[in-house]
Amino acid sequence: MKINYTTKNQRLNVEIDSDSAKEAFKKLSEFQEVFDESNCGQCNNDDLQFIVRTIESNDYYELKCKNCGAKLAFGQHKSGGTLFPKRKLADGTYDREHQGWHKWKADNGN
Ligand SMILES: [Zn+2]
Repeated sequence: MKINYTTKNQRLNVEIDSDSAKEAFKKLSEFQEVFDESNCGQCNNDDLQFIVRTIESNDYYELKCKNCGAKLAFGQHKSGGTLFPKRKLADGTYDREHQGWHKWKADNGN
């Protein structure tokens, strides 16, 4: 089966091809988790930019708010090439206030 899915903010569209409902569910969940972030968790602006920074041959995946400069970092699963948003605070609890979006104090504009 083929599913056409458009993100909540209408900016991205993906065609998901799968053999079963379970596979479609899994693919949709992976897509939504990364690409269906509509607004900055700090200022609620919707002008977001996908950024990949490479530092010492490691890639870091981030969403950046073009309005306030806050970032949402993505972790990488060990296998499968999938990403997940880091929504926990340093103490391991879920960031209810900003959903993982945070501003670095020493933000140099990158
Ligand atoms: Zn923002």
